[in-house]
Amino acid sequence: MSDCKYIIVGSGFSGSVLAERIAARLNEKVLLIEKRGHIGGNCYDYKNENKIIIHKYGPHLFHTNNKEVFDYLSKFTKWSNYIHKVLAYIDGVKIPLPFNFNSINKLFKPDKADKIKKKLLLHYKENTKVPIFELLENDDEDLKYIANFIYEKIFLNYTIKQWGKCPEKIDKSVSARLPVFIGYDDRYFSDEYQGVPLNGYQELFKNMLSQPNIKLLLNTDFQNICSIKEDKIYIYGKEYKGRLIYTGPIDELFGYKYGRLEYRTVNMEFEELETKYFQESAVVNYPNDYDFTRITEFKHIHPIEIGTDKTIILKEYPKDAVSYEDIRYYPFFTKESAELYDKYKNLAKGYDNLILLGRLAEYKYYDMDDVVERALEVYKKEQNEYGNL
Ligand code: UDP
Repeated sequence: MSDCKYIIVGSGFSGSVLAERIAARLNEKVLLIEKRGHIGGNCYDYKNENKIIIHKYGPHLFHTNNKEVFDYLSKFTKWSNYIHKVLAYIDGVKIPLPFNFNSINKLFKPDKADKIKKKLLLHYKENTKVPIFELLENDDEDLKYIANFIYEKIFLNYTIKQWGKCPEKIDKSVSARLPVFIGYDDRYFSDEYQGVPLNGYQELFKNMLSQPNIKLLLNTDFQNICSIKEDKIYIYGKEYKGRLIYTGPIDELFGYKYGRLEYRTVNMEFEELETKYFQESAVVNYPNDYDFTRITEFKHIHPIEIGTDKTIILKEYPKDAVSYEDIRYYPFFTKESAELYDKYKNLAKGYDNLILLGRLAEYKYYDMDDVVERALEVYKKEQNEYGNL
């Protein structure tokens, strides 16, 4: 094992893309270590007895503007042309998100709606995106009204549920993920390429990893094999000179030496209902009602050919990740957590043969396409340095 040139920890997108590239392109043996009993990280999905594809760790909708990323993944899957639509339940009405002109039409009487839309078009270009905090800065009275309305009805309470804090206390890049749209586009994402793998993510990951150069160890805790100290990596107590590509939590890698990085986890509550469909779209957000943030109905994401009279929904209850069992879904961006992460990052710099990547290892709110892009970049660098290994 310790004579293997590449050890990769974690089989989510980061680890799997690198394993695939190194195995297929560098023709090197890769040992891929996965703590869970399945590959694919939080993209894991499965078909239930009624052929409904369920995303075990919450809804994963693929979207990207990066052609290279899309083309690369397309080698391992066909895509459905699913376009993600989200509704928000506001004052008894379901309106489209991102907040756009259709949302305005649903909420206000025609005169008022027209006035707001005209004002928005006077100040912003048509078909552009405006982050809520930018809209809130506008001095025009009508725009102040609508900005405050959107802030209070869409962002404030959802963010408190999601993060335990109000939007001002969270890095602005988080609320900017859901901008206000100046026009009639109802799609949740405006990226050029979007969809889900036709037969689910598991098939995609299996296609990536099924090759003789990749040895996969499932149900294997990396901590039981490897230790890391004083700028050296040890595998079963023997110094390891190959590359260690680590995609797990950076604080865990260093034994929480400086303390735990903050994360939010989500209690996922699935329900099977005796009805063909429960709601009108794949996701409905509930910013102001109930304790959960949103309900996902999987049948909308992967429509099934032979209908079933049952449906599966998922309610998400976010909370702080406090125990070691809590799945770390969302890095929590505060000044303190950024400083703590930097301390771990500096520690990692001492290890010449350690590569960190992914949401957990880099403590970044990456989307799936960001991760694949990053993994392809890391691979290219590795390819260039390969001759010197
Ligand atoms: N958000 C909100 N209200 C909503 C949806 C999103 O306030 O109805 C904010 C919230 O702070 C959330 C962020 O926008 O964390 C990003 O939302 P996104 O849908 O991208 O979150 P994800 O799907 O990654 O959980």
